[in-house]
Amino acid sequence: MTIAITGHLTTEGDRIAALDGGDPRASVQVDPAGGDVVPGFVDCHTHLPFAGWRAEEYEQKVTGVPYEEIARRGGGIASSARALAGASDAAVLAQAEALADEMLRHGTTTLEFKTGYGLSVEGERRQLALARSLAARVQQTSRVTGLFAHAVPPGSEADEWMERVAELVAEADVDALDIYVESVAFSNEHLTRLGALARGRGVALRAHVEQFNTNRSVPVALQAGARSVDHLACLHPDDVAPLAAAECAAVLLPGAEFLGAERLAPGRELLDAGARCVLATDCNPGTSPVASLPLVMGLAVRRYGWTAAEALAAVTIDAAWVLGLDAEVGSLEAGKRADVLVLDCPAGHIPYRLGHNPVAVVVIGGEIVWVRPDQEWRIS
Ligand SMILES: [Zn+2]
Repeated sequence: MTIAITGHLTTEGDRIAALDGGDPRASVQVDPAGGDVVPGFVDCHTHLPFAGWRAEEYEQKVTGVPYEEIARRGGGIASSARALAGASDAAVLAQAEALADEMLRHGTTTLEFKTGYGLSVEGERRQLALARSLAARVQQTSRVTGLFAHAVPPGSEADEWMERVAELVAEADVDALDIYVESVAFSNEHLTRLGALARGRGVALRAHVEQFNTNRSVPVALQAGARSVDHLACLHPDDVAPLAAAECAAVLLPGAEFLGAERLAPGRELLDAGARCVLATDCNPGTSPVASLPLVMGLAVRRYGWTAAEALAAVTIDAAWVLGLDAEVGSLEAGKRADVLVLDCPAGHIPYRLGHNPVAVVVIGGEIVWVRPDQEWRIS
């Protein structure tokens, strides 16, 4: 199949053939009618697949129930771990596939899956297998991250669990490793250890750091060779410049910050210092049940003081870099994979029209995979 997007480009097979304004002889013609044409979005930090939701917990949180009390009532990551353990494979995959579809309709053409709700060796093996099944089922390109060090399983100690993590790393087929560094979870020493494990396996190191407290984990992550440090709401000011100078992305998660009434990551300062800044949904049932990258862009622009163009780069080429896919996706260039969005508006409207889905047509690998029902007139 060849697709011409009038005024922009032509695809051939699964590639962008040329930025030639659209070949009139192409088999399918798409009329952008003044809407912008942008690269498909890349969501480099999600927690799919998971089971169920935690809406009651969100209501408790916003009405002022302390976190310790929510945890005492059985909330938190342990709650999602129980839900996952109690759900059939088919049910988990159905929920995750529906969410991936929702993301697709909001422009996400590449995304990450993580483990982390298994909370036992067997549980993590199962979640990894579910993530691999999901990767084979969804229409998007995906990468799978082993977040074996997400929470310390009940009855275990962090040091002891890291031994199990090392065993999982040795046997697991993952594209990256991740860890949650926080006073209630894992320490900077565990981060260093996971860095060594990642190097040994030749996979990228990612790290959830500085979400609720300033633990000075960023220098440790940089020393360990991290590909990305994610969250950063409590980033120490002295760590901005070293992060900006490193080959490491700052992955900011404004959906989690907004819904959790967390502190704000220093997004403007990081960009001004020259850091590679990336946005992601952090889609998970606890802190960020958000699937829409356009919504995340809107939050980032308002709260970090970013331009629309800065937010767009943060969900395309720079997000692709985090997943090691920037040579393949994330920009509109001849030879790259034809993952292309036609918007119903200029790209500058994405953050401004908060809550509006600007995506009219989604092309993945040179195939039109979704047309918004009111936008079918664009295709001929
Ligand atoms: Zn996360």
